[in-house]
Amino acid sequence: METSKTIYLDHNATTPCTPEVVEAMLPFFAQHFGNPASPHRMGRDATAAVEQARERMAPFIGCDADELVFTSGATESNNLVILGVASRAQGRKRIVTSAVEHKSVLAPCEFLETQGFEIIRIPVDRDGVIDMCAAESIIDDDTLLVSVQAANNETGTIQPVAQIASLARDRGALVHSDCAQLLGKVQCSVWELGVDYASFSAHKIYGPKGIGALFVAHGGGRNRLAPVCYGGGQEHAIRPGTLNTVGIVGFGEACRIAHGVLAEEVQRLTGLRDSFEKELRCSLDGVTINGPRHSRLPGTSSLTICGIPADVLIANVPSLCISAGAACTSGTVSASHVLLAMGRVPNEATCTVRVGFGRSNSEAEATLAAHMIARAAIRIRQHQGGIEPETGGMFANDAG
Ligand code: PMP
Repeated sequence: METSKTIYLDHNATTPCTPEVVEAMLPFFAQHFGNPASPHRMGRDATAAVEQARERMAPFIGCDADELVFTSGATESNNLVILGVASRAQGRKRIVTSAVEHKSVLAPCEFLETQGFEIIRIPVDRDGVIDMCAAESIIDDDTLLVSVQAANNETGTIQPVAQIASLARDRGALVHSDCAQLLGKVQCSVWELGVDYASFSAHKIYGPKGIGALFVAHGGGRNRLAPVCYGGGQEHAIRPGTLNTVGIVGFGEACRIAHGVLAEEVQRLTGLRDSFEKELRCSLDGVTINGPRHSRLPGTSSLTICGIPADVLIANVPSLCISAGAACTSGTVSASHVLLAMGRVPNEATCTVRVGFGRSNSEAEATLAAHMIARAAIRIRQHQGGIEPETGGMFANDAG
């Protein structure tokens, strides 16, 4: 029997704030509300909270605390690094990225293309993994910056960032990685990745929305990054503006909690995802999993279901919160640039949904979700074939 209880399976889009995170943030709204830039006691208390959060985050990210610059999220971090490095280009004109980046990397790169930079997007294979042979020939001595995501938000594909970073360093290029989806899902160390810059977002790891960070490595990386905004000089003048103490405290607490549960969650979510995919493929034919079997984020399942448009499927499983492609671009049913870059045809891309398991999901929910999706897909196919559906369902597209 289907349940009407909502099952949230969209943890790549965002995650709920953990109660401990909310609790840690609460005093900083109205009680410890001082501006960290103020010299008095209230200001100093706020500064202490900000610096404690930075100290908590650093070991989880694999860097020193003073290498973290707070921003409003990964979108801002990505824009800041791409536009900021470009404005101190010192002659180099090539920026290398991949075909499967988030729009907050692709869009600033497109803007720079109009300003005379040469933007090259490295192709990916059918699993969405960057083509290293292509990367070797594309990253040259004229390359200013290489920006490659650590993990993809739609498919969960994990990229060989350390290998790319080593290639880039050999050619004297700076390296950035959008780690918004990696942090908190698998072990993440910017030191091991060997990058100059990395972007993070709190709301992907059970922290609040509207707060993120940019890792800026000691050494060359800092001098070669110009700010995008100018103001009061906060955050080494790389990102001025009154610090969001409440959000920063929440981000720090979210990192502290994630650090403690990560190893266990990786195992549990991998198991949950694998049993969900197995159950679904046993109950329904024509299901393709996008992304590699290994080197994929534990909780992420990108499914192409033959002949079933994502929006129709989603309308027919109203108690499941799943996504059609990327949440940031949904609302439009256009084919995902990520899936197209992976060699899918537009029809396959529009028949793809993303299921993202997270901390609160149980094995029973994963099994139920697989059965609900399978049943809905079978009903839709019967309807499309002119056969009356077995049970009443909601059909977004009656034309079939
Ligand atoms: N990069 C990736 C890979 C993402 O998944 C997201 C969020 N969808 C972002 C960047 C943007 O993050 P934010 O919401 O913090 O701006």
